[in-house]
Amino acid sequence: MRKQYLPKDSLPALYEALRKRGYKIIAPHVHDGAIVFSEQHSPDTLPWGWQEETEPGRYQLQHTERDNKSENPARAFAWNNGPQGIKPWLFKPKQEMWRAEETENGLRFRQPDYAAEPIAFIGARACDLAALNLQDKHFIQGHYPDPFYSAQRQQLLLVAVNCQRSASTCFCTSTGDGPEALFGYDLLLDELDEGFLIEAKSEVGDEILVELALELPLELPLDACEQSLLEQAEQQLQQAAQQQRKMPSDSELRLLQNKLDDQRWHEIAEKCLACGNCTLVCPTCFCSKQESNSEKLGEVSLASVQTFHPEQSDNNDVASQVRVWDSCFSEQHSHIAGKNIRPEISQRYRQWLLHKLLMWQEQFGRSGCVGCGRCISWCPVGIDLVEEANLLLRSELDQAVEQATGERP
Ligand code: SF4
Ligand code: SF4
Ligand code: SF4
Repeated sequence: MRKQYLPKDSLPALYEALRKRGYKIIAPHVHDGAIVFSEQHSPDTLPWGWQEETEPGRYQLQHTERDNKSENPARAFAWNNGPQGIKPWLFKPKQEMWRAEETENGLRFRQPDYAAEPIAFIGARACDLAALNLQDKHFIQGHYPDPFYSAQRQQLLLVAVNCQRSASTCFCTSTGDGPEALFGYDLLLDELDEGFLIEAKSEVGDEILVELALELPLELPLDACEQSLLEQAEQQLQQAAQQQRKMPSDSELRLLQNKLDDQRWHEIAEKCLACGNCTLVCPTCFCSKQESNSEKLGEVSLASVQTFHPEQSDNNDVASQVRVWDSCFSEQHSHIAGKNIRPEISQRYRQWLLHKLLMWQEQFGRSGCVGCGRCISWCPVGIDLVEEANLLLRSELDQAVEQATGERP
């Protein structure tokens, strides 16, 4: 597919091309000390010069006029991630499932409109795209496709960005999900000193790139400097791939099934607050609960319940059913058939780690962790998923090394 050079001052033209095609632009910007995504109208609000410093339990933004303390000008995508991935735009934190209204003839039920708006999401990283792929498996490719997610997914255009450095909490190299974005995007940006290499992967991405080239009197430097630009981008990717944190491989993680009764679960539980932050920031977690707002219904006879069609009156809404994000750390989440099956925090932490790293392999063919590191930096007490997985598997991993090398590690 097409690859071109886009000078920084041509970014507004990219925004304009997206807008002309009807897309609402969702882009990163700095808000309340974090990099978050929301509708933005100009590339001026991108996080120019901002980078995050992370470690377990810590996320702090710092601004540098120059990139990486060098003489390079400030960049828009020198950070890695914030608390959100793409998840909130498809699997929404709050989703109305249906409403009911009281009429003279009894209750009528109304389904919400599944229509979704075209969204262009700018700034997705390789780990976010891998997470999206997993969410697709859950929400679209399962036995019961989710109509809300599916509708918005069809209207999503993705402008991905290759990482040029890695945060200290990143470990996408060890999960095989980054730092290079290889699939799942429409357009891909590699940020350089004065502009971007921009590459199209889909038909619509290619069309946008053609429009840009037509509309812009660009003197594409790609022919002249192609080699040096590509080398710069490759060096950045190599730098981003130098990650210290390493998640065991999927086959090693399968050994976690021998660790159900490990003492370590109780040690983690002494620190863990069961706040659920780790599941909320995780771009692959998909649990939800439903809440009913039904106070006004009172006693209703089943005989009076009818299905309702949206074109009919929507007056007198009396009740609604809403889906909201939930977490396996909440007590109610494990309340099944009148009993809480995971009353202890140690059991709930075990559910989180084992579902994510072990059971997903059976459900979706791979671990549910894409190495973004969000659960590590946004855990208020700094519990580190990678460290815990390695600790739990230490004896098994040592044994494997001994068998392979004949030496005790
Ligand atoms: S488990 Fe943690 S590191 Fe893995 S995908 Fe979720 S938030 Fe990212
Ligand atoms: S880890 Fe917990 S919150 Fe995440 S998908 Fe699994 S059960 Fe749900
Ligand atoms: S591991 Fe951390 S973020 Fe997750 S529930 Fe426990 S304290 Fe909260």
